[in-house]
Amino acid sequence: MNFKKILCLMGCALYFSMSVSFAEPHWVHEYEQNSEYNSQPDWGSIEDASQDTIPAKYPYAECGIGTHQSPIDLSNEINSASLNGLSINYPRDYPDYYNTGHAPQVNVSTNYSGKLKVGNDVFPLVQYHLHAPSEHIIGATKFAAELHFVHVKADGKIAVLGVLLKVGRSNSTLGTILAYQLPLDNLGEAQHNSGPEIDPMKLLPEDKTHFYSYAGSLTTPPCSEGVSWYVLSHPVEISQTQLDTLKSINIANEGFDYNNRVTQGLNGRVVSGKK
Ligand SMILES: [Zn+2]
Repeated sequence: MNFKKILCLMGCALYFSMSVSFAEPHWVHEYEQNSEYNSQPDWGSIEDASQDTIPAKYPYAECGIGTHQSPIDLSNEINSASLNGLSINYPRDYPDYYNTGHAPQVNVSTNYSGKLKVGNDVFPLVQYHLHAPSEHIIGATKFAAELHFVHVKADGKIAVLGVLLKVGRSNSTLGTILAYQLPLDNLGEAQHNSGPEIDPMKLLPEDKTHFYSYAGSLTTPPCSEGVSWYVLSHPVEISQTQLDTLKSINIANEGFDYNNRVTQGLNGRVVSGKK
């Protein structure tokens, strides 16, 4: 997978429309079944009208038939003392503030050196974005929101670091990300914006040693599997006002105040935990 494709995997069908002519079928986060829109229960069967043959006709089939899908309930994790620790290094950056139409997102600058190290694997950070409410849950606990830091290695392997967000004190870096989001244009197309320097490390909890880990997928179409998930156990606080802003961006984008995918079946997968 090339870099553009990976940026677009998280929902930016039109971002590169100036240079590349492709338009992916539209979808929304709506939970309702048999909706007139391409809602969550329908993602797997959404057709690409420009294609006649299978599998190209069903570009999001994995959302429906995949067995290693995300998000999931992280409770009942097995404590694995042998799990490699995470080394997270996200230097300050002048990023691209980008509203994909499905989520507020930050695309890192060219030649950005931010990375996640897991054992001998080094995953460069490509973009991070927000969901509300949280996509991962822990038993009965659903959090106010969730940040996803998406990393892609040169060989195409993807690792996502999840950070759970709860209401409390406001977060200055999150405030900047929300403030520099542009609304979609008149045609509903994604918009991006320049803005000030931010410190992504301020979006992470102090304790980065405790986390959940499992094998999953992208949580938006095409729901591609083979994604290594790491979700930090300790949440980060955001203010109620920031949560309300996030919800209002969701409403303006898709018409719903939420942009989370519902949890998916474990199908025999094991969730490891570093306690
Ligand atoms: Zn996400």
